[in-house]
Amino acid sequence: MARHDVIIVGGGIGGSALAAVLAGRGVDVLLLEQSEVYEDRVRGEWIAPWGVSETKRVGLYDVLMAAGGHHLTRHITYDESRTPAEAEARTLPLSIFAPDVPGPLCIGNPHHCQTLFDEAVRRGAQGRRGAQVTAVQAGASPRVSWMEGDVEHSADCRLIVGADGRTSAVREAAGIKLHQDKPHHWFAGLLLEGAHDWPDDLQAIGTEGDFNFLAFPQGGGRVRVYGGYPLEQKRRFAGPDGAKAFLEAFRMDSAPLNAALADATPAGPLLSYFNHDSWTDQPFGEGVVLVGDAAGWNDPIVGLGLSITYRDVRIVSDILQGDDWSPAAFAPYAEERAERMRRLRFAASITSALDCEFGDEAKARRRDHFERTGADPSLGAHGFAVMGGPEMAPPEIFTEEHRAKVLGAH
Ligand SMILES: Cc1cc2nc3c(=O)[nH]c(=O)nc-3n(C[C@H](O)[C@H](O)[C@H](O)COP(=O)(O)OP(=O)(O)OC[C@H]3O[C@@H](n4cnc5c(N)ncnc54)[C@H](O)[C@@H]3O)c2cc1C
Repeated sequence: MARHDVIIVGGGIGGSALAAVLAGRGVDVLLLEQSEVYEDRVRGEWIAPWGVSETKRVGLYDVLMAAGGHHLTRHITYDESRTPAEAEARTLPLSIFAPDVPGPLCIGNPHHCQTLFDEAVRRGAQGRRGAQVTAVQAGASPRVSWMEGDVEHSADCRLIVGADGRTSAVREAAGIKLHQDKPHHWFAGLLLEGAHDWPDDLQAIGTEGDFNFLAFPQGGGRVRVYGGYPLEQKRRFAGPDGAKAFLEAFRMDSAPLNAALADATPAGPLLSYFNHDSWTDQPFGEGVVLVGDAAGWNDPIVGLGLSITYRDVRIVSDILQGDDWSPAAFAPYAEERAERMRRLRFAASITSALDCEFGDEAKARRRDHFERTGADPSLGAHGFAVMGGPEMAPPEIFTEEHRAKVLGAH
C-alpha cells in the first residue's frame, strides 16, 4: 500500500494551499478532492487585509495576483439613516489595516481553488480529482480510503489533514466535537457581470428597510454581491424569479450607486445560507489535524473564512517543519485558534446586530452608533479586528461590557 507523509482530504482553499506550501518544502503530500470541476457554491471571494498578509507569509500572494487577484482600496457604508453624500464623505481608505497591503483581495472562488490545486501539483504534491474519501482511520496508524469512479484506493500516512469543509468527515472520524451557535439571519450571494458603472476599486455595504447589502467588485464589471435578510423570510428569494427579486432589493434611496448592481446580469447561482458561527475546542487528534471550515467557521457576515483558513495553513505548516507531529505539537495551534475564533465570533455578532437587524429600533441603533463612533472610535474597534486581524483590537474590546457600550440602549 502507498504511504505518504501527509494525506490532505479536501482540495478547496485550505487543502490546496496547505498542499502547495508543504510540497514546496519537499514534504510528500497526497491531495484528495472529490470534485472533477470546481463550481460556484457562493463561497469566499474577498480576503481581508490581514488575510492578504497571511497569503504573503505562506508564499502564495504572488500566485494569486498572477491568477488575476484584484485589490479594493475604498469602502463606503451606506445607511437609511443618512444621505448618500454623508455616507460618501466618510469613504474609508483600505490601505490602513495591514503593512504593504493596498486593501482586501478579491478572486473568484472556483478559480482560486483551481489555481491553488495546480500550484500544489506544480510544486510536487500528488493531486487526485474525482477522489471521494469514504473512510478515514485516525490514530497511531492513519489511513485514508477513497473512490475514483468504481475503484477503491487506500493509503497510509504519518498525518491526515481534514480540509474537507463544514461537514468534515475527517472531523467526524476523529471524534472532534463541533459547537455551533444560533443562526442570526439569512445570507444570499450572487455573482454579477456587466456592472460597469460600479467602480472597480470600491466595496460597499448598507442597510435599508429589511435588506442589508454587500458588494465586492472583482474587476472587469464582475461584482460578488450578498444580501442579509430576516430569518422569517426563508422563501423571499426562492423560485424562478428569485434572482430578479434579489437584485431589485439592491435599489435603495440611500445608495443610488446600487442601480449598477440591480441592472447587472447574474453570472452564477443565487444561493442562500443561514449565518452563524461554529468552532472546535481541539482541532486535532492522534494522527489528524483540521484546517479551515472543518475546524469551525466564522459567521460569513464579516467574510473572514479565507483569512482564517490561510492563517491555519501558516500555523499548521510551520508546526510540520519540526520533527514532532504528535498531538502535543498542535496544542499551540488549538490555543491560538480558540482565542482567534472567540474574538472574531464577537466581532461578527456585533456586526450582525448592527447591520442585519431591521425595523425602527435597529435603524435608531445604527444612527446612534454612527454618531457615537465619531466621538469615540473605540466603538468601531470590532471592525478593525475584522479588517486588520483579531489581534489589532485590545482584549477589552471583546467583552460583554464593550458590547453593551457599542449597541447602546437600543
Ligand atoms: C455565503 C458565504 C459567503 C462567504 N464569503 C466569504 C468571503 O467573502 N470571504 C471569506 O474569507 N470567506 C467567505 N466565506 C467563507 C469561506 O468560503 C470558507 O471559509 C472557505 O471556503 C473555507 O475553505 P475550506 O478549504 O476550509 O473549505 P471548502 O471551501 O468547503 O473546501 C472543502 C473541499 O473539500 C472537498 N471535500 C469535502 N468532502 C470531501 C470528501 N469526502 N472527499 C474529497 N473531498 C472532499 C470539497 O469538495 C471542497 O472542495 C463565505 C461563506 C459563505 C457560506
